[in-house]
Amino acid sequence: MSDLIIDLHAHTRSSDGSDTPTELVEAAHQAGLHTVAITDHDTTSGWAEATEAARNFGIQLVPGIELSTQIIDHSNGFEPHSIHLLGYLLDPNHPALVEEMAKIRSHRDNRLQMMVDKIAADYDIDWLEVRATIPPGATPGRPHIAEVLIAKGIVSDTTEAFQHILAAHGPYHVPHYAPKLDRALGIIREAGGVPVLAHPLSRGGNPATDVSGSLEDVISRYEKWMSLGLMGVELHHRENDPELTETLAVVAEKLGLIVTGSSDYHGTKKPNYLGENQTTLVNLERILEAATGSEVIST
Ligand code: AMP
Ligand code: FE
Ligand code: FE
Ligand code: ZN
Repeated sequence: MSDLIIDLHAHTRSSDGSDTPTELVEAAHQAGLHTVAITDHDTTSGWAEATEAARNFGIQLVPGIELSTQIIDHSNGFEPHSIHLLGYLLDPNHPALVEEMAKIRSHRDNRLQMMVDKIAADYDIDWLEVRATIPPGATPGRPHIAEVLIAKGIVSDTTEAFQHILAAHGPYHVPHYAPKLDRALGIIREAGGVPVLAHPLSRGGNPATDVSGSLEDVISRYEKWMSLGLMGVELHHRENDPELTETLAVVAEKLGLIVTGSSDYHGTKKPNYLGENQTTLVNLERILEAATGSEVIST
């Protein structure tokens, strides 16, 4: 076990974080991290600025993405369910990736406007105010609505906003398009990236990534995803159920999956702090060796 702090999941203002890419890298430097990954939702638009900052601050940067995907598996009787897929060191100009990122972002934009219109029936909020909080080129998400709800005193913080008004099963929620997990795995691999399932055991999460069933079933599910390109799981994450994490650790070991631990830092938008979960150097090296799409920025 090395004592280098390696954190492979963080957001910036290019999606729903509060830091600029430069501020993220500076915060990582101040928190004593050796390595940080920039993994904004459905965009790589923060990479260039983060790269320059990483060189200035002398910190290792792993360029990445957190792609919105969904699992649709009628054979198991699961409802379609959202799942996030991290991709590291992929080619940001790969045509299928570029097309898919643009499609998700455009649907997210329409969907956010639809949610705001529904919320506006009950609360004093409008789309122009929300749109003004989204930097050009950034991926729109529910936290942008939260920002306005807080600014207007309708809720006191993001957590309260997500408890009711922005809740996934709440009255104002509108889903957005996302590619199937199977296809997203293929796109990240074609783009030379390393796909890692993000927070697969989120509490109240996805039955398809749950590991409480028979070990045989779980293993065959993960084997299928591995045959489609899956290379790792984000085993250590504050949203992962602790008991299920122990089971997934066994599955990951048995199947030879890369194992990561990360904060999912969003600046002031979430309480998650840099380095709160970490990835070992051995696992980072496996990611660096497997990737062919883009270069790690080294100190
Ligand atoms: P969206 O991508 O628009 O569906 O919104 C989901 C995003 O909202 C996630 O990526 C999180 O960053 C954020 N989020 C979800 N739940 C919460 C919560 N309870 N508190 C703060 N942020 C949250
Ligand atoms: Fe987020
Ligand atoms: Fe996520
Ligand atoms: Zn995230």
